[in-house]
Amino acid sequence: MRTKMWIVDKNEQENHAYPQLEEAAKLLKEGETIAFPTETVYGLGADATSDRAVDKIFVAKGRPSDNPLIIHIGSKEAVEKIAKEIPSSAQALIDRFWPGPLTLVLKKRPGISEKVTAGLETVAVRMPSHPIALELLKKVDLPIAAPSANLSGKPSPTLAKHVWADLDGRISGIVDGGPTGVGVESTVLDCTEDTPLILRPGGVTKEQIEAVVGKVRVDKALLISGQAPKSPGMKYTHYAPNAPLYIVQGSRDFLQKKADEWRGQGKRVGILTTTENESFYQADVVLGCGSRDDLSTVATHLYEVLRSFNEHDLDIILSESFPEEGVGQAVMNRLMKAAGHQIILE
Ligand code: AMP
Ligand code: MG
Repeated sequence: MRTKMWIVDKNEQENHAYPQLEEAAKLLKEGETIAFPTETVYGLGADATSDRAVDKIFVAKGRPSDNPLIIHIGSKEAVEKIAKEIPSSAQALIDRFWPGPLTLVLKKRPGISEKVTAGLETVAVRMPSHPIALELLKKVDLPIAAPSANLSGKPSPTLAKHVWADLDGRISGIVDGGPTGVGVESTVLDCTEDTPLILRPGGVTKEQIEAVVGKVRVDKALLISGQAPKSPGMKYTHYAPNAPLYIVQGSRDFLQKKADEWRGQGKRVGILTTTENESFYQADVVLGCGSRDDLSTVATHLYEVLRSFNEHDLDIILSESFPEEGVGQAVMNRLMKAAGHQIILE
């Protein structure tokens, strides 16, 4: 399959009509797969009402079919066609955070492909805020299922070239709208029970959600105790760079000492740090990822930096860890997955 590419400058049009999106919209309506930018990461879209179209997403990504997809809609009102009921707390969150990086899990209405929801009675839905995503959704006028546009297991794409590297020849097209922004995926919040439950930390923080609806719960599986899971079989990787990644919890000197030990054994070592500490470390590659003063900048660059390590033929990557506050929760959640929960404690 030839993968088309359309370059769209998101600031190009006053009225955001983006005529380059016509062909992408037509292909989506015909049941093809198109990658497009959102404010979180690039998504791989297909018609959520068509089994055939949704199937193409799973095939292109190599995604397990029991992992459900998020439906993207172009207006707040469209949620009523997808969800059976919208609790008042969910409505308050929609009013406050849509369009934006918050996905709500709600009871589903019929009409959405079973493949999107992996046979569940619930559906995950969000309205993205990226002007190109919104215009594409408007032109297509269908609910669009869109997981991140990467090969399953790889870091999510924050630039069109990441999508190209993973999916060229496997999908119908890529809308290149430049860098995405938030850099980590949306927060997934289950609103089907009385107290909302965070299933995945993301672009909207727990603190922001609680300011609107009061106390929320966090899925126990997400809580990081600083320990690796007891069962080695529970370890699984996602967002992973090619070389094994370890999160170091301790001082800069301790991290440098670990790097020196591995290098002493002839290993090529990479270090993931922030701009503040970039000049502190010595290793084969030292990459700074945003600033500690503002963890949203770490989120913006995390996947790009994880992918960049692959250009250096490393044996091991050591990463600093980050405070689990605000968007730091999402950053640490993704880093822990990328590291398969491998932590080195001082
Ligand atoms: P991705 O599409 O790669 O951003 O991942 C979507 C995330 O949303 C995955 O973690 C899914 O497990 C989750 N998700 C999608 N639909 C549902 C649902 N109905 N219930 C719970 N989680 C869901
Ligand atoms: Mg994903």
